[in-house]
Amino acid sequence: MPELKVTPLGAGQDVGRSCILLSMGGKNIMLDCGMHMGYNDERRFPDFSYITNDGPLTPYIDCVIISHFHLDHCGALPYMSEMVGYNGPIYMTHPTKAIAPILLEDMRKVSVEKKGDQNFFTSQMIKECMKKVVAVTLHQSVMVDSELEIKAYYAGHVLGAAMFWIKVGSQSVVYTGDYNMTPDRHLGAAWIDKCRPDLLISEATYATTIRDSKRCREKDFLKKVHECIDRGGKVLIPVFALGRAQELCILLETYWERMNLKAPIYFALGLTEKANNYYKMFITWTNQKIRKTFVQRNMFDFKHIKPFDKQYIDNPGPMVVFATPGMLHAGLSLTIFKKWAPNENNMIIMPGFCVQGTVGHKILNGAKKVEFENRQVVEVKMSVEYMSFSAHADAKGIMQLIQYCEPRNVMLVHGEAEKIAFLKEKIQQEFNINCYNPANGETNVISTPVKIPIDVSLPLLKSEAKRFNALPPDPKRRRILHGVLVMKDNNICLMDVDEACKEAGINRHVIRFTSTVAINDTGPSLSTAHKLHSLLKEKLPQWAVTFAEGEISVESVLVKVEGDDTEPQKTVYVSWTNQDEDLGSFILSLINSMGQ
Ligand SMILES: [Zn+2]
Repeated sequence: MPELKVTPLGAGQDVGRSCILLSMGGKNIMLDCGMHMGYNDERRFPDFSYITNDGPLTPYIDCVIISHFHLDHCGALPYMSEMVGYNGPIYMTHPTKAIAPILLEDMRKVSVEKKGDQNFFTSQMIKECMKKVVAVTLHQSVMVDSELEIKAYYAGHVLGAAMFWIKVGSQSVVYTGDYNMTPDRHLGAAWIDKCRPDLLISEATYATTIRDSKRCREKDFLKKVHECIDRGGKVLIPVFALGRAQELCILLETYWERMNLKAPIYFALGLTEKANNYYKMFITWTNQKIRKTFVQRNMFDFKHIKPFDKQYIDNPGPMVVFATPGMLHAGLSLTIFKKWAPNENNMIIMPGFCVQGTVGHKILNGAKKVEFENRQVVEVKMSVEYMSFSAHADAKGIMQLIQYCEPRNVMLVHGEAEKIAFLKEKIQQEFNINCYNPANGETNVISTPVKIPIDVSLPLLKSEAKRFNALPPDPKRRRILHGVLVMKDNNICLMDVDEACKEAGINRHVIRFTSTVAINDTGPSLSTAHKLHSLLKEKLPQWAVTFAEGEISVESVLVKVEGDDTEPQKTVYVSWTNQDEDLGSFILSLINSMGQ
């Protein structure tokens, strides 16, 4: 049996550091190459020594596919390609190619210049790495080599996020990256063909959550922000540079306008402008509403939202600040948090998932004090709110995707171990297919069915089409093609029997199956035959049932009645050739039931 082998180097029963090795049909593919935000040591990057301890990875990897620009999916890419060594192709969509290097550079600065991390990639390495990137368009089939084919599908989630369909020979796999099955204020919903892959590797961040309606969450969010502003508090919203930030900005901007609010909203990002430019540049990737209104007004030119300056941190009075990064693990959002946390009038709203080890994760789990590396202790008196605005599919969405693409097997990654285990059970029960949840470094081997491609001769196809099309359309009707398999020049061809005989120069012999049925029917045999003829015509309205010289025939099935005209006992002979097996047994059972 052919096999698929999958080994996560990251994101196996965990969120962060997504990196999954896939082997199929002699090809090795790396799916994502992310970093872990919860670690500062060597655990932040995937353990590439799993692939080889000896020199560059190029001989061992046929291609790398990056699903989207989030750093937990691409943050280790320059390290992998420039420091470990990889010269093969790296595939990603155009927006990802444009945005990823900016986020990588930003992260590099924070890690090296602010935290003083060693053994990190340089700006030049990011540039060298990006030269190896091949940008792909949605639904465009790309041949990596003569056997390995990939295709990107829209994933929602963030600008440029894609799911990838990967095919080698008769085996195929879909890797979702992060995706969202419901459209939001700025992006559409994920979509994929009914491609029936051998394996669907899906993220499972919200494996156990079925989220309430988006509208409720938005109302709740606005209410909480408004209440905090009213009591003179400050609201901190840690975000990633691109994605939820834009969505929440659109939300607040509209609300401020409608409620005529005066408290300032700041967007604390050097990246904002660049980010918004990307949304303008890749407007076709956003949802329909934004595309429509774009003609009159750019949704990303905000009236109430102003750029933030660090000096504003200590300003008196209420304000709302969006700051990066989203998990409070470094940078400006963390600086502001330290200042505002001890005041109970203030509020922090976490709009997305936080990985273990980050300050965001700690306070979401109710920590009232947070200790930092320099022994600084910050008391958390501000209210901490969590609102899942992050654009991941929830349990319902994951089930929906499985229904859409009908995989033979499912593998869950990018989720916490217990949550994944729970959803795994549910998937196995509901769809009756295998579901896998490997840990990091654990290899799952999945066997796939043997598929042998065969040609069908043109005359056979034509005659079949003629027969099939003569009948009224019915999607449930089975379409059976009869023929003989002929091996020719190492190819297998399905041919019409007569055609094959002619080609091989042999005579055709036909074997008929004959059954006899004893029935009681007074009167001459001919009248019994007439009765059978009427019965078959009634039961087989779609078929040509003919009657000639005392014999009834339907296709190759022949029915004949014999017996003494003065005696009621009659013998009915039913015979057919093997290609009318279905029809023959049906007619036989009809006549049998008559005889009883
Ligand atoms: Zn993501």
